[in-house]
Amino acid sequence: MRIELEKLEARRGDFAHVYQPDELNPIDERVTLVEPAAVTGKVNLAGNEVFVNGQIDTRVQVECDRCLQPVELAVNAVYQLEYISGSDYESIQAAELTEAEMLVSVFDGGAIDVDEIVKEQILLTVPTRLLCREDCKGICPECGIHRNTGECSCVTEEIDPRWAALKNLTE
Ligand SMILES: [Zn+2]
Ligand SMILES: [Zn+2]
Repeated sequence: MRIELEKLEARRGDFAHVYQPDELNPIDERVTLVEPAAVTGKVNLAGNEVFVNGQIDTRVQVECDRCLQPVELAVNAVYQLEYISGSDYESIQAAELTEAEMLVSVFDGGAIDVDEIVKEQILLTVPTRLLCREDCKGICPECGIHRNTGECSCVTEEIDPRWAALKNLTE
């Protein structure tokens, strides 16, 4: 969904949309929607700036970092964004400010891409490291068994790295 800024009456407007998972999946290579995403927001134009704020509610599935099992996670994200037009950005850049210092995004032309906002905001709420449970035992590197649900008899030696070098010398 795109919001055409020219069509806003009185330079402001509200929007609401429910995305079916198929409309946005995959969010990225490790995150997928498992339920529809309800998105609401308000757009305000002030001078050459555009303010967009609202809320996103959905559930996503992410792979466990250790065992790769799917983990479900609720997303309830409140977002507040600020955009400036490309030409304004260039003049501000000329004043040698970085994008991080400005804390704003750039939009080109007359529309805000809500799909992109939703994807970005979902990714911001998903932790970069996620375990299916705190004590996830992961996958055996020898036989590939899932250690949370089964045991194997593989011996995986854990060698203190300080001794590993010594061991190599004596072998
Ligand atoms: Zn796990
Ligand atoms: Zn094993």
